[in-house]
Amino acid sequence: MPEVAFLGRSNVGKSSVINSLLGTKVAKTSSTPGRTQAINFFEVRWPGKPQPEMLFVDLPGYGYSRVPKEISAQWSGFIDPYLTARPSLALCVVLVDLNIPPQASDKQLLQFLQGAHRPTLIVATKSDRLSTNRLPNAVAELAHELGNLHVVRYSAKTGIGREELWQEIRNAVADFRVPELGVNFG
Ligand code: GDP
Repeated sequence: MPEVAFLGRSNVGKSSVINSLLGTKVAKTSSTPGRTQAINFFEVRWPGKPQPEMLFVDLPGYGYSRVPKEISAQWSGFIDPYLTARPSLALCVVLVDLNIPPQASDKQLLQFLQGAHRPTLIVATKSDRLSTNRLPNAVAELAHELGNLHVVRYSAKTGIGREELWQEIRNAVADFRVPELGVNFG
């Protein structure tokens, strides 16, 4: 089954995006950022359909300074391998806070995903915090800073971007073909 992975720095609003997409509280919004150190899988099923259509994959937040080194080492232990080797990974949704400049860790992640040839989409979170005047410029600047990738503006609070993000996810899943066996992902 195709998988859609959600990645972002701790506190970027990842759980809020997942919950607002699904319209239900499945991802835990945490008051202690950086503490979710597992890969969580959620089945996404349309109402009335017996089979799930896809899996949402909630990956641990990165780049949070208070996370001890041994915990962030888990990134190389199990997140790296997931991102490079998972045959069913159809789309990586990288969340970036629109209210602060993109951080080195965001850029590193994007480079990493590019190197792994993963289809990637950027979602600019918490866009409700910007005035309508500043929004278009902020989105354009972010896209420019991140190598002119497509950026979907989003607010879990107001629902802005929800339809567009769902459309992008549906398109990626519809286009996705599990690579033939025998392909070396290393
Ligand atoms: P995570 O650590 O990346 O899963 O982030 P959370 O979803 O737990 O959100 C972190 C903080 O940002 C919480 O205080 C949320 O209330 C806040 N937040 C998340 N999404 C939005 C949003 O769209 N707009 C605003 N204004 N705040 C948000």
